[in-house]
Amino acid sequence: MAGYYIWTIGCQMNKADSDELATGLQRLGYRFVSSVEDADIVIINSCVVRQSAENSVISKLNSLLPLKDRNPDKVVALTGCMVDQDTAELKRRFPYVDLFLKPGESAALMELAGVRSPEPAQNIAPLPTPPSSFVTIIEGCDNFCSYCIVPYRRGKEKSRPVTEVFTQVESLVERGTREVTLLGQNVDSYGHDLPDRPSLADLLMELNSIAGLVRIRFLTSHPKDMNEELIQAVASLDKVCEYFSLPVQAGDDGVLQAMGRGYTVQQYRDLVEKIHTIVPGVAISTDVIVGFPGETEKQFQGTLDLLSATRFDTVHVAAYSPRPGTLASREFEDDIPLFEKRRRLHQVEELQKAVASEINARLLGQTVEILVEGEKKKRWWGRTRTGKLVFFDNDADRLGQLVEVEIEKTSPWSLQGVFKQAL
Ligand code: SAM
Ligand code: SF4
Repeated sequence: MAGYYIWTIGCQMNKADSDELATGLQRLGYRFVSSVEDADIVIINSCVVRQSAENSVISKLNSLLPLKDRNPDKVVALTGCMVDQDTAELKRRFPYVDLFLKPGESAALMELAGVRSPEPAQNIAPLPTPPSSFVTIIEGCDNFCSYCIVPYRRGKEKSRPVTEVFTQVESLVERGTREVTLLGQNVDSYGHDLPDRPSLADLLMELNSIAGLVRIRFLTSHPKDMNEELIQAVASLDKVCEYFSLPVQAGDDGVLQAMGRGYTVQQYRDLVEKIHTIVPGVAISTDVIVGFPGETEKQFQGTLDLLSATRFDTVHVAAYSPRPGTLASREFEDDIPLFEKRRRLHQVEELQKAVASEINARLLGQTVEILVEGEKKKRWWGRTRTGKLVFFDNDADRLGQLVEVEIEKTSPWSLQGVFKQAL
């Protein structure tokens, strides 16, 4: 049986795209192999949001050259945000790559894989799905934050019709999925480009009625586009989890303006307060960039102040990385030295470690509901509705079950508990 290998880096949308490609290849009779050497098809799903991610992709691509020399029949495909509209430069740098696919594009690969298909599609049994699956509901991004390459690589926002998403979720549930995470660079603007302009809240309401589905999540939200209708939907729909991913990026109005984010620190704080009022017990995660061009010590202090006051459950922090072609890389000098960016990054991490450690410690002794997603080192793991990672021991097969666990140990990153009962 022929095999495929996929290497994925970057955001959840890349992971969702890789899952789609894997499903397509399995339907054509390919099986997943865990090494590039054994694969007939090698897919590299790339990210160029920061230079560090781009460097990893380049070294992965370079490592494929000797392999392709030895096995010229091996198909090598590059997809994800490294693939630009114009692939001439990529073809020059990586001539041994057979296919360049824009994010979410799969037709050319499936056609080639089909021609070399080891087995006719009708012989393939339906594929099981994991307890928790990703479903893309809106592609692209119209925002053009000054530092970000994503809109240039993923194009304009394009929502998938409600019926199409509904059918996909129903089919995932039939095959074993119990939780879906709806994905988009900006899910709050879902539907604005569809004929009847459904909102994300409308979509959540529809999906909430699917029997067998127990949890619904969505990310990422944009603070300038989030409205009360959505927050109310999270509060009132039983399957929608009490969790928001709401990147703030900076805690200073001048920096936010230079980033082109479209809100002030005060507006962001008001929004968070509203979320806490309407959805009690909610968890909020955020993204922060440190060392944006011109960010002064005082402006950075604004970010630390915001993090201390808001007390997020999770903070994803990144050092600013100039991305060629973006407004920030054209107009602003990358003037914060690397050691200073690292110092700021470390300070955010230390602060957040203390905050998350306190937030999680409050769960000690409490019984929480977990959807079991897998097994790691002979321990079951899953997440609470608020997205907290929990480990517990149990001899029975708990995969895909909703269970109750009593928390007996906490850390800033995960929780340990004792199994109580299956729900
Ligand atoms: N759409 C989401 C949003 O509005 O924040 C996230 C998309 S972006 C692919 C994921 C994260 O990467 C961002 O939240 C930001 O913190 C970070 N990021 C994007 N461009 C960056 C850059 N040039 N340098 C450092 N971090 C960056
Ligand atoms: Fe990038 Fe901003 Fe779009 Fe997020 S909203 S993908 S940060 S341009």
